[in-house]
Amino acid sequence: MKYLFAALAPALLAIASPALAAPKQGDVVIRHVTIVDVEAAKTVAGQAVVLKGDDIVAVGADAVIAKDWRAARTVEGKGRYLIPGLWDMHVHFGGGPELIDENRALLPLYIANGITTIRDCSGDLPEQVLAWRSEIASGSLFGPRLLTSGAKIEGIAPVWKGTIEVGSEADVDAALDRLKTRDKVDFVKITDSTLKPELFLYALTKAKALGLRTSGHIPMALTVDQAVDAGISSIEHLDYAYNAGAKDEAAIAADFAAGRIDRAEANRRLDAGFDRDTAMAAYRRFAVKGVFVTPTLNGSRIIAYLDSDDHSKDAGLAYIGPKLRKTYDWRIERAAKADAAGIATRHKQIEDIATILPMLAEAGVPIIAGTDAGFLNSFNYPGFGLHDEIELFTQKGLTPAQALASATRAGPAWFGWLDRYGAIKPGMAADLVLLTKNPLEDVAATRAIDTVVMRGAVQDRAALDKMLADTRAKVAAWNAAAKP
Ligand SMILES: [Zn+2]
Repeated sequence: MKYLFAALAPALLAIASPALAAPKQGDVVIRHVTIVDVEAAKTVAGQAVVLKGDDIVAVGADAVIAKDWRAARTVEGKGRYLIPGLWDMHVHFGGGPELIDENRALLPLYIANGITTIRDCSGDLPEQVLAWRSEIASGSLFGPRLLTSGAKIEGIAPVWKGTIEVGSEADVDAALDRLKTRDKVDFVKITDSTLKPELFLYALTKAKALGLRTSGHIPMALTVDQAVDAGISSIEHLDYAYNAGAKDEAAIAADFAAGRIDRAEANRRLDAGFDRDTAMAAYRRFAVKGVFVTPTLNGSRIIAYLDSDDHSKDAGLAYIGPKLRKTYDWRIERAAKADAAGIATRHKQIEDIATILPMLAEAGVPIIAGTDAGFLNSFNYPGFGLHDEIELFTQKGLTPAQALASATRAGPAWFGWLDRYGAIKPGMAADLVLLTKNPLEDVAATRAIDTVVMRGAVQDRAALDKMLADTRAKVAAWNAAAKP
């Protein structure tokens, strides 16, 4: 009883004498701003938001907040729209140890583009990325919050470098143990260039039992449902989700597993066998099982149209160092080898695949924005690419609110962190982006960035422009030094 009274006493005092209540102190206040409630797909005008340290501590009508709070810094939000920080849930770092500096120089590009969190889906520099994750968290390296899979799980002698190669269940157990206990990864990435299909399923099941989320590429010898049943948490790239729509998917997987057809023939039959009802039934199962899909649609589109799109004057090239630029050649050369029929097939496939985006949304599957930006993935520019991705989502049938949710709420939802990220209310992280246009009218407004707040630190337009200019200067110097 005594404790209850002690807790009530200050409240009673405040009611009795409001004039005595001193204003509360925050670090930053954003005033007269329109808050975008992404979850409800609506705006709330005339608000103020108070930040203290890494946290949002108060949100409310501007006049009320102005009376109750003081802050060391005021950001004027009149005529502007405030959204939660953006998340790019599929990026890569890599290209070999000589490319560490050029990869590190990509980090500020994310912040300059309003991206406060990135999910690294593995490359060939896993130790480096794990070190960056700690350095960013401790404040000694400037960059967005970095979540990483560490080294990905693969079969023996895969096409990818820097992986953990597994050839047996015991190998999978050891790999997961290392990822969980030594590397403390944020999730597990599994790809299938040489991984045995049964080990792919074993790794999904085992990771889930250990409490680790999984994401990856599904082997052609398996049906998508087999991966879903084994507990895959997110399917990367829309084409894998598309395959679940083929009526005879199981027969195609079996023919591929038995070596009766090659990958190209399997893809041709999957495309020909696509059926809307089959697909919707599969996507409803995804939704029930809590499987998310990261389309990386813009990345696939760029690769599909390498034959006809001229990228030589892309503004993004000014941010890509010469060694990273060299990693683009792999895909460019591969695309150049295709004949006219191959190119036509590639174009048709990407257009067909994109049609499932609104179907996934209709089925209730959470869609995650991720770019696939990084080494190898030519002309897919870190930071800038996320805006391209979500704009493409709206062109392919999502509403601006759905597209915005894919880049602000789907990432936190996947990690189970919606109590901390993805909305603007007290107790949430002070990761925010102030826009000069309304993203619910046109999601391209996410490019119109006035200010970015990253863990409570305010980066105004001048600071963001300086980040971009600094990276361009670094790249220009590397380019000059690389000239023979
Ligand atoms: Zn990727």
